[in-house]
Amino acid sequence: MPGQNISEKRKEAYSLLAGVQQHVSDWFSSIENRPVQAIMSTDEMRRLLGGPLPDEGIAPEILTGTLAEAGMTGTVASAGPRYFGFVVGGSLPVAVAADWLVSAWDQNAGIYALSPLNSVIEQITGSWLLELAGLRPTMSFGFVTGGHMANFTGLAAARHRVLRDAGWDVEADGLFGAPSIDVVVSEEAHYTISTALRLLGLGANRVRRIPTDGQGRMRADELAVALRGQKGPCIVCAQAGNVNTGAFDPLEKIAEIAKNRGAWLHVDGAFGLWAAASPQRTALVRGIEKADSVATDAHKWLNVPYDCGVAFCSDEAAHRSAMSLAAAYIVATHGERDPHEFTPEESRRARAIPLYAAVRSLGRRGIGEMIERNCRQARRFADALRNAGHAVLNDVVLNQVLVSFGTTAQTNRTIAAIQEEGTCWCGGTVWKGRTAMRISVSNWSTTDEDIDMSAKAVIRVARNQQG
Ligand SMILES: *Cc1c(COP(=O)(O)O)cnc(C)c1O
Repeated sequence: MPGQNISEKRKEAYSLLAGVQQHVSDWFSSIENRPVQAIMSTDEMRRLLGGPLPDEGIAPEILTGTLAEAGMTGTVASAGPRYFGFVVGGSLPVAVAADWLVSAWDQNAGIYALSPLNSVIEQITGSWLLELAGLRPTMSFGFVTGGHMANFTGLAAARHRVLRDAGWDVEADGLFGAPSIDVVVSEEAHYTISTALRLLGLGANRVRRIPTDGQGRMRADELAVALRGQKGPCIVCAQAGNVNTGAFDPLEKIAEIAKNRGAWLHVDGAFGLWAAASPQRTALVRGIEKADSVATDAHKWLNVPYDCGVAFCSDEAAHRSAMSLAAAYIVATHGERDPHEFTPEESRRARAIPLYAAVRSLGRRGIGEMIERNCRQARRFADALRNAGHAVLNDVVLNQVLVSFGTTAQTNRTIAAIQEEGTCWCGGTVWKGRTAMRISVSNWSTTDEDIDMSAKAVIRVARNQQG
């Protein structure tokens, strides 16, 4: 506004932010009870928010009020306690609060000189996470946007290292004429492994796929056969936590086979890695400490806001060489961490800070309890459905449950009706050729009552569909 000085503008900003605080409280309290799916139609959204490019602006508090209104019904309550779709997780309030600070500070987290605080918090958080996950304390880490980019980063380090060992500098010379890399994944690898391989020039389909068992675990005996007598650069991708069953590849055995072959072992532990935080579940991830790179998400099961994932790497030089924008191996003169050396991006937000807040506020015990509670709740959900006569298709070892309601048509109809009914939200999937409903319990705020209420709703809806 002409004539208005900056300090007046700042004062306006304070009251704007205080107003938003109220909108956020309203939204948080709404997601406990509102229907989980979005109610506002996309046409209504366009009417409320769109139109031709406006010539004139509007007052900020009117704008935020309109957005808040749209958010009440146009969002999915995926942050709420009865959202069981995909594997999403919510956001711990303390992590949201830290995220607000991050936005207000507007730090460029890529470079130490632009944010010493972020650089230090990344170091603290990274080493805490390594301990929490039972990984080697010397691993390097990069805070990326999510699991996909964590897979990309780990596999980029792998690509660097296996080619360097074959006398090839992939960062300088690319892949034209490079020794070929034998990339071995399981037939149950997450599709982001394929997209990461594609981005790295390794080809989504130019891989060998190892069969899995009935729970989706890579068969170590088949891997051993596939790698026997082979030479040259090799990358093996294993998985800690299948998106359908929650099952873990036999990491200990896979690590041994990969080591004997001289292969790089990458593990996708987007959500499953955090089984390591619960003393009752650590056996599932045994062997992961032998991986050369590990990818994980924080915005799923650690319940921090998007975008936050972490790539861990046992070979810091390979990690830096693959990601660093400056010359490889050069340590900055200030001797502090330059975060961009470990991620695909240069400028970015300080995404480790909400994660720091989550870990610092809950502590090792609190994180472990959150993970274990969700696992117990998944079993509780599965037991309720099984007792009502529905087929649970997986061993519920973690937070994922697969249920069939009969034929493909019956199951699809039931899933649609459950989503429509609105008590909870569960999605569909196909497991080993069979259509199923998938339940993922990964939210910090889900209570046992939420599980019981949701199971009752599912059973009721399923009964109406059959009848
Ligand atoms: C979600 C998921 C990913 C991808 O993570 P994003 O955060 O969505 O990029 C990769 N692997 C597994 C096993 C996942 O569950």
